[in-house]
Amino acid sequence: MSGYFDSAASMPIFPRALLNTLTKINHGNPSSAHLPGRQAKKIINNTRLQIADYIGGDPDQIYFTSGATEAANILIQGYISYLINNSSFRNEIIVSSIEHPAVFQTAYAMQSKGFVIREISCNEWGEINCNEIERLVNEKTAMVCIMAVNNETGAIQPVNEIARQIKKIDSDVFVVCDAVQQFAKLDVKPELQVVDALFMSGHKIGADKGIGCFYLSNRFPILPLMYGGVQEQSYRPGTENVYGIALLGEALMESLRNHDSTIGKVRQLARHLISRLDFLQVNYVRLVPDEKSSPYILSLAFPGTSSASMMRDLTTSGFYISQGSACSSHSMAPSRILSAMRLPNEIITSAIRISFSYENTLEEVDLLADHLALYCKVEIEI
Ligand code: PLP
Repeated sequence: MSGYFDSAASMPIFPRALLNTLTKINHGNPSSAHLPGRQAKKIINNTRLQIADYIGGDPDQIYFTSGATEAANILIQGYISYLINNSSFRNEIIVSSIEHPAVFQTAYAMQSKGFVIREISCNEWGEINCNEIERLVNEKTAMVCIMAVNNETGAIQPVNEIARQIKKIDSDVFVVCDAVQQFAKLDVKPELQVVDALFMSGHKIGADKGIGCFYLSNRFPILPLMYGGVQEQSYRPGTENVYGIALLGEALMESLRNHDSTIGKVRQLARHLISRLDFLQVNYVRLVPDEKSSPYILSLAFPGTSSASMMRDLTTSGFYISQGSACSSHSMAPSRILSAMRLPNEIITSAIRISFSYENTLEEVDLLADHLALYCKVEIEI
């Protein structure tokens, strides 16, 4: 029995994917011309093919990185450097107000290079407002960054609709999608006809930490941020993480094999938790309605309680959830995402994120719901 409900932060590694990886991995350096080197290279290119196949792109357009944050930096900073080098008149970046810090902070760092940042707002369910695109995109827009699924709330974003609108206004605007919480999890994928780049992270899909990748269309050149090698077409120089890449491919295959059943399972777990809370008459607010949310993520607030102390209590009892995004859960500042949704303070300060994986069971969900009910009862009564 496990109390781990934080798979949006890091999903447990698929045991079969790990086993397959360990059986096929060798010690060769993929840059070496000898047999072990060529075998290592083959492993890398096999995963490249699997990812390209899944997203519907060309294997030559997939680049491995250490994860999503590095990918976001390579794409955003790399494109801005290219524009600056070419004295482009485009000097505006549009980001949604609910982007992960990997994108949000990287975009804002571009202010020091003379770029203006414009934000697309979201509605009360954390869904990016499509109707602001026409107003925001103009002849100075260099790029637009929009995420596929919000990591804190689970809100599914209208990425393709937004990207289509942007391209209709100006096809030379670079559209980048943070696909981290969508990749290998949801049916709707970013359409590569309108989305020019996307990135993902291995540890969110049952591979390991320290591996990820991005896709980049040939239409948008970027300059490398690092030098010293020709790996990943020089965009990510340095010896590749062959183990991580092999495991990434295996985890993707495992996810796709069980895609529909896993979605069905996590949806059932989320709904079961809700009905158990209803049965126990717990006063909670669901931040994103079922039909607008990734089934992997449940964002709930418990008015009258504090998420920080609830987290501490849950941890002591062996339940592991998240207060906000894992990267900001050590901060006492109110969540930027929930603030962008203009939620009342008592909702923001009592919100938690529960996220599911293939490993969780209905029994674990019952225990979590019972614990939440008890905690709320005690907290509100005292
Ligand atoms: N984007 C989203 C939506 C995420 O959830 C995360 C991780 O929390 C990241 C980016 C950063 O991923 P990584 O840990 O691979 O740098």
